[in-house]
Amino acid sequence: MEEIYSLNLGDYIEIENKLPNEEKKQAKIKIHKLKKDSISNLHLDCCFYCGNSFIETKKKENGCCNSHTVPKSFLDNISENGNVNFFNSIYQSEFNSKNNGLNNAGTFKLICRKCDREIFKSYENIDNYNSKPNVKMLAQIDMKNNLKNIDKCIKNLELYKVLEEGLSIFNEVSKRKEKFEIDLSEYKEAYDYAKKVSQKPFNDYNILYFKKLNYIVPVAYQGTVALINDLRGNIINNVYSNDKKYKIKNISLCVFPLENSSVIIIFTNKKNKRYSEFFNDFKKLDLEKQLSIVNYILFSYTEEYFLSPLISKNTLDQLKELVYKTSDFYRKTENPDDKKEVFKKIREIYNYDESLKFPNLLLEKFSIENLKKENI
Ligand SMILES: [Zn+2]
Repeated sequence: MEEIYSLNLGDYIEIENKLPNEEKKQAKIKIHKLKKDSISNLHLDCCFYCGNSFIETKKKENGCCNSHTVPKSFLDNISENGNVNFFNSIYQSEFNSKNNGLNNAGTFKLICRKCDREIFKSYENIDNYNSKPNVKMLAQIDMKNNLKNIDKCIKNLELYKVLEEGLSIFNEVSKRKEKFEIDLSEYKEAYDYAKKVSQKPFNDYNILYFKKLNYIVPVAYQGTVALINDLRGNIINNVYSNDKKYKIKNISLCVFPLENSSVIIIFTNKKNKRYSEFFNDFKKLDLEKQLSIVNYILFSYTEEYFLSPLISKNTLDQLKELVYKTSDFYRKTENPDDKKEVFKKIREIYNYDESLKFPNLLLEKFSIENLKKENI
């Protein structure tokens, strides 16, 4: 066996499929219990934004809100009978749900209802997308992305705490926990910053890409992404660095299906220059290639997107290869000289040249309007 072996998320599905039914059943129960135990340990007392207590006050509006990442009003444009599909409709693990009602779609519970109504208002207003989003809107998106990341980190930390207590065989646990703790403090810092800009906007964001399409794309997403390599194969983020001072730099990616159109926004903090070369090259490409690369990034790097149930099974199956991509490696030894070998492999995994071979959901061909015609 090679010293370094690149993993594929499809490997896990294969292992899962080989499990005898009884074992599968037991594993499902165990996973469910782990999730339940870790979530029941979470007691957030007050709103992350305004600091008001959730419990003390009896006022309903100060209660904890089930906030949506992508605004519900945007998701309504791609839902069918109140449902949307998730990552797992492509990934196909029996241990996760494939679709769900909008109220359970990519939500987090960190802020009160009053804040949820107020602090994202500008970017949630469809009328504000006739031109490029302004600084206030970008700060609001950034703030929400970081809240979602914070929520994910807190949940993961709780899950690993339960794992640590229950299953000592996970020797990777403490290493991962440490990573989540560093991530959490970075997300909190980024959130504080975005909050400050949203309250008193000053031009601190750089829009790397903005495109308005005159049809509704069947996919929605908002979140942060840390790209590993650029279009020339140069490394943007060394996600394997063990140097604690080394910071991963993200971009924010938004794919918003609106009422009769869609917008794609990619932006970052002005101080983040790590992506300059990538976007210099990207802007020179024609629209179809640009959209195919956004589509490639969306499905190979992220998991928390929402899909219209109108997308055919055949199309979802063709996206599997993209969805299975991961930057994780199995390494036999921790040899520092592996670096070159790892980067060589990563260039093969995340190869933008192959982006055109996958179904591109951002093309008009897959618009909600066209999918509806096909379904008649
Ligand atoms: Zn609040």
